[in-house]
Amino acid sequence: MAEKFDAIVIGTGQAGPSLAARMTGEGMKTAIIERKRFGGTCVNTGCIPTKALIASARAAHVARRGADFGVAIDGAIEIDMKRVKARKDGIVRQSNEGVEKWLKTMKNLTVYEGHGRFESPNTVRVDGDLLEAEKIVVNVGGRASVPDMPGVGAVDFLTNAGMMEVDFLPEHLVIVGGSYIGLEFAQMYRRFGSRVTVVEMGPRLIGREDEDVSAAVKEILENEGIEIRLGAECIGLAKRGGQVVVTASCEPGPEEIVGSHVLLAVGRRPNTDDLGLDKAGVETDKRGYITVDDQLRTNVAGIWAMGDVNGRGAFTHTSYNDYEILAANMFDDDPRRVSDRIPAYGLYVDPPLGRAGMTEGEVRKSGKKALIGTMAMSRVGRARERSETQGFMKILIDAETKKILGAAILGIGGDEIIHSVLDVMYAGAPYTVIQRAMHIHPTVTELIPTMLGDLKLLE
Ligand SMILES: Cc1cc2nc3c(=O)[nH]c(=O)nc-3n(C[C@H](O)[C@H](O)[C@H](O)COP(=O)(O)OP(=O)(O)OC[C@H]3O[C@@H](n4cnc5c(N)ncnc54)[C@H](O)[C@@H]3O)c2cc1C
Repeated sequence: MAEKFDAIVIGTGQAGPSLAARMTGEGMKTAIIERKRFGGTCVNTGCIPTKALIASARAAHVARRGADFGVAIDGAIEIDMKRVKARKDGIVRQSNEGVEKWLKTMKNLTVYEGHGRFESPNTVRVDGDLLEAEKIVVNVGGRASVPDMPGVGAVDFLTNAGMMEVDFLPEHLVIVGGSYIGLEFAQMYRRFGSRVTVVEMGPRLIGREDEDVSAAVKEILENEGIEIRLGAECIGLAKRGGQVVVTASCEPGPEEIVGSHVLLAVGRRPNTDDLGLDKAGVETDKRGYITVDDQLRTNVAGIWAMGDVNGRGAFTHTSYNDYEILAANMFDDDPRRVSDRIPAYGLYVDPPLGRAGMTEGEVRKSGKKALIGTMAMSRVGRARERSETQGFMKILIDAETKKILGAAILGIGGDEIIHSVLDVMYAGAPYTVIQRAMHIHPTVTELIPTMLGDLKLLE
């Protein structure tokens, strides 16, 4: 006999718990299922722990640069990796336990700890329990993808999840994958004191960004001593003694990078392979992402998918926004849509990259008549005062409507400052509004009107 609910949420990622809170608040008898750790990837193996580790790495970096600021440090800068990990674990625990307690004390909610699988369009099994509901919402996220590269089975590789257990300093960390996740770990471990090599298949780092952004990030990382091998078309792994060998070239006598540890950061895959989607008739695309419409409905009435698993976003904020969209449609008679949102994200190397809207490459491809403004961070007083002048800002404007099409801020505070552009984009206002605003001195943001005062036609 199935236990009957009004709604079932599978997964406690960045959208599920908030939706469960809304559903129970609306008086719905709800079940939520979690197979591992409450709070999902962001809380346990993603955003929160990596940003906590990055903060430790920055502290080490600033300490090493003390002399630049007239601060003398008497003795070597030592990194205690056990304490670094313990600090990270403490920060993670707060969030993980917070989500667990929140859910377990929520009125009208039953928490099931186990792996959930559909048995039909309206039933889900969790171990010995069969649950039934008219509304089922999937929030199962994804995990590191492990490509079928030569030698992958023979080597003890790390992924973002395995990195969370590291409480020692790898002598030489080889990172396969030069994109967002790989680069954050690269700079972090270099600053902790490891030798770090990034091996990237593509011709440049973070291939989705514009070439000038990729080049500037590469320079920042290389200046800190990170070795970068691009265009590694035939990546393979092997074990030799206690070392790992990463081959990077297809040529005979392949080029080898010999390291102590290897991290695979080559993308993510959705957790849909063991979810019983076939029993429910829910369609996925060929990479396994659940196909949803603009309001997050799957092809099966009564089943929705939120977060990374629907392939419409790969961030905590896109997942949370999915919750807002679904709740608005379900309860508020407010037809919010996924296509209402403007792409925005950060890359948390130091200095960080904040991005909003289209890249320059996308604007060019669109064929729109556009204007472009750029400014080196070395021209920004605030950056000079802090002796952190790496990076640049770039903004793209629709020449006809004067609306902002996109922006990239690679520089101190870039992840925060980008919101001053993003909010104007959401307001649908022309860029000239920013030029008439009085900004605070000394900030990076105060230079955005100056950049906008020197726009050129994008040719
Ligand atoms: C190293 C790293 C750093 C990141 N940094 C950032 C960042 O700085 N900013 C940012 O916005 N994003 C970042 N992300 C991405 C972010 O973590 C994800 O986009 C976000 O966690 C997606 O959330 P979600 O709601 O899709 O589900 P998830 O957080 O992935 O959670 C899904 C949950 O479902 C559970 N589950 C899966 N299958 C089942 C099942 N069958 N039954 C029961 N439970 C199940 C899982 O155990 C998990 O707890 C990072 C990711 C990584 C890997």
